[in-house]
Amino acid sequence: MPDLTTDVRYIKGVGEQRAKSLLKLNIRTLQDLISYFPRSYDDRRSFQKIKDLQPGETACVEAMAASSPTISRIRKGLELVKLRAVDETGALDITFFNQVYMKDNLHAGESYTFYGKAEGTHRRKTMANPLVEREGSRVLTGRIMPVYPLTAGISQGMLVKAVEQGLDACRDLLPDPLPEEVRQVHHLCSIGYAYKQIHFPDDEEQLAGARRRLVFEELFLLAIGLKKLRNRRDVLTCLPYASTDISAFYACLPFPLTGAQRRVTGEILSDFAAGRPMNRLVQGDVGSGKTMVAAAAIVCAVRNGKQAALMAPTEILAEQHYRSLAPLLEKLGVTCSLLTGGMPAKARRTALAGLSSGMTNLVIGTHALISADVEYAALGLVVTDEQHRFGVNQRAALSAKGERPHLLVMSATPIPRTLALMIYGDLDVSVIDELPPGRQKIDTFVVTGAYRQRVYNFLRKEIAAGRQAYIICSMVEENNAIPDDRKAALEYAQMLQTQVFPDLQVACVHGRMKPREKDKVMSAFAAGETHILVSTTVVEVGVDVPNATVMVIEDADRFGLSQLHQLRGRVGRGQYKSFCILISDNRSEESRARLRVMAQTGDGFKIAEEDLRLRGPGDFFGQRQHGLPALKVADLTCDMALLHEAQQAAEELLRKDPELNAYPETARRVRRMFELSGDTLN
Ligand code: ADP
Ligand code: MG
Repeated sequence: MPDLTTDVRYIKGVGEQRAKSLLKLNIRTLQDLISYFPRSYDDRRSFQKIKDLQPGETACVEAMAASSPTISRIRKGLELVKLRAVDETGALDITFFNQVYMKDNLHAGESYTFYGKAEGTHRRKTMANPLVEREGSRVLTGRIMPVYPLTAGISQGMLVKAVEQGLDACRDLLPDPLPEEVRQVHHLCSIGYAYKQIHFPDDEEQLAGARRRLVFEELFLLAIGLKKLRNRRDVLTCLPYASTDISAFYACLPFPLTGAQRRVTGEILSDFAAGRPMNRLVQGDVGSGKTMVAAAAIVCAVRNGKQAALMAPTEILAEQHYRSLAPLLEKLGVTCSLLTGGMPAKARRTALAGLSSGMTNLVIGTHALISADVEYAALGLVVTDEQHRFGVNQRAALSAKGERPHLLVMSATPIPRTLALMIYGDLDVSVIDELPPGRQKIDTFVVTGAYRQRVYNFLRKEIAAGRQAYIICSMVEENNAIPDDRKAALEYAQMLQTQVFPDLQVACVHGRMKPREKDKVMSAFAAGETHILVSTTVVEVGVDVPNATVMVIEDADRFGLSQLHQLRGRVGRGQYKSFCILISDNRSEESRARLRVMAQTGDGFKIAEEDLRLRGPGDFFGQRQHGLPALKVADLTCDMALLHEAQQAAEELLRKDPELNAYPETARRVRRMFELSGDTLN
C-alpha cells in the first residue's frame, strides 16, 4: 500500500527520468506531489456548438471526425495533420502542427471533444492544436484544469495525471495540522477535500473553500510560530538600565523633537528599563526624523555603560550618519567612530582597537560591523537603519557580538501596521506618524520625454536661484542581475555636462565607484560645489542635502512606488519649495495610473499600500529579505481578514496549550515551516 512517503516512481508513467525532473520541482514523494499546487486554472467547462463558436473564443466542441486525418509536409520540419470535424450544426477544420501521431489517434466516424481556440471566419471555422479526447471522457476537457509551474521533461498533461493518481492513493492519509475544533469554529473543510479541490475543483465555490482552508492553515501555522518566537524572547532577561534620563540630550538638540519622536523615544526608554532585550521596529516615513530617535537610544545606552553600533546599508549613509551624529553626540561625551569596508588598514585597526577596549562608545558602519575580527567590549545596543536591506541573519550576526543587546530596527518603508506585525512578528512596532514642522509638499509631475528640454530649463532656473538637483538614471535590478548602471549614468552625466549645462558643474555617482570616490562626489554635492548630481539609485535611502530642491527621475515607470517615494524624499529636506519630476514614455494605462499615485499623494503609507497592491509582497520586500517563511498559498496583501482570524485562532490555541502537547502535528508543521526559513523554533 502506498503512503505519503512513497517515492513518486510509484506513479504510473513516472520512471527514473521523470523522477529526476520532478526532483527539480522538489517532488520526491507522493506527499510532495500532491502538495504541488497549481499556479492557476484553465476553465474548460464551456461547450459550444460549432455554429455558435465565435472566432477568438476558447471552448470545448463535441464533434465527429468526418473523414480520416490527412497529413501534409509544408516544408522540412513542419508537418500538418488536418481533419474536418462536424456536429449537427456545422463543420470545423482542425489542424495539428508537428503532431504526426494525431493521424493514428483520430478515426473517421468517431466522436471526440476538442478543446481549443476557434479561429478563421464565420463561414470557415478552424482550430489549431486543440486538446483532444474521446467524447465523454472529461479528463482533459469539460472541467476546471489545474495549471502547474513546469520544468524541463515534465508536461502539464503528465503532471495532471500524476497528481490525480497521487490524490487517489493518499489524500485520505494526510495528517491535518489544523485541530478539529479550529476547523469547526472557522468553517474549514477537511484537508483531504481541500487537496482534491485545490487541484481539481468541481466549481469556483469549492475552489474558494479549498483555498480558504489552505490559506488559513498556512497563516495559522505562521502565527503560531511567530508567537512562539515572541514568547521565547519574553523569557530572556538582561539588566534594566539604571537611568533613562536623557534630558541633557534634549537640551543640546537644535530643535524640539516632534510629538511622535518623543512618544517613540519613550517606548524605547521603557524597553531599556524593562529588564529584557528590546526588539523594536521603528517605522517612519522619509524625513520623519528616525535618526534622532536612534540618537536618543544611543545616548541612553552609553550613559548606562554600554556600547552602541549603528549599521547602515551603504557607505554613503554610514558616513552621513557619522557626519551628522558625531558632532552632536560628542558634545554629550559619546566617543564615535566609523567602520566601513573601504577604510585604509591603519584607520581600521584604530577603530577596532577602540571597540575592543571599550574606548569607543558608538560605532557607525556598514556590514563591516559584523566582520569576524570586530570585537566589542560591551555591545548593548544594535541599531540597523533602513532595515529592509538587511536580512534577519545579518541583524542576528550583529546582535551575537554582544550579550543579548537591545535591538532597534529603523525602516523608512512604511508598511501597513498589521502586515508589519506579521512580517516582523517577533518585533514590537513603533510608528513615527508625524513629520517635523514646516515641511512643504513636494510638487510632483509626471511627464513624457518630450518635455525633457523644459525640465532642463526648469533645472537651470532653480540652480540660478542657488538650489541643486538630482537626476536619477534608471537602474533597475532585472532578474536579480546587477545591471550596468554605471555606463548609463556616466554617459548621461557627460551628455548633460557637454551639451546641456556646459556652464554648470555636473557630477555623477554610481554603485560601482570606490567608497572614497563616492564620498568625494557626495561631499562636493553636499557642500554645494556641484549643481547637478546624476545618480543611480545609490541616493535612494537617507541621503540628506537640504539645498537640493529638484529630483528628476528618468524612466520612472521602471521603479517601484516605494522606491520612487524614497527617491523623492531626497528633496524637500530644507526650507525651500521642492519638486519631483517623473519622466516616463510608458503609455500603458497601468503605468500611468501608478505614477499618478505619486503625483497625488505624499503619504508614504498610502503609497506603500498601493505598491503592495500592485506588485505583491514578494517584489515589495525583495528576495524574502523580511525573513518570513515563504508562503505557498496565502497572499499577505489579499488575505488580511483571514490573517486576523488565523492569528486569533493561533493565540487561543497557545493559551490553551502553550506547548502544543495535544497537537503534535500542528507543532511539527510549525517547526518545519520555520526550519525552512532558517529560524529554529524550540
Ligand atoms: P529619516 O526618518 O528619513 O531618517 P532624518 O532622521 O534623516 O529622517 O531627518 C530628516 C531631517 O529632519 C534631518 O535633516 C533632521 O535633522 C531633521 N529633523 C529631525 N527631527 C526634527 C525635528 N523634530 N524638528 C526639525 N527637524 C528635524
Ligand atoms: Mg534615515
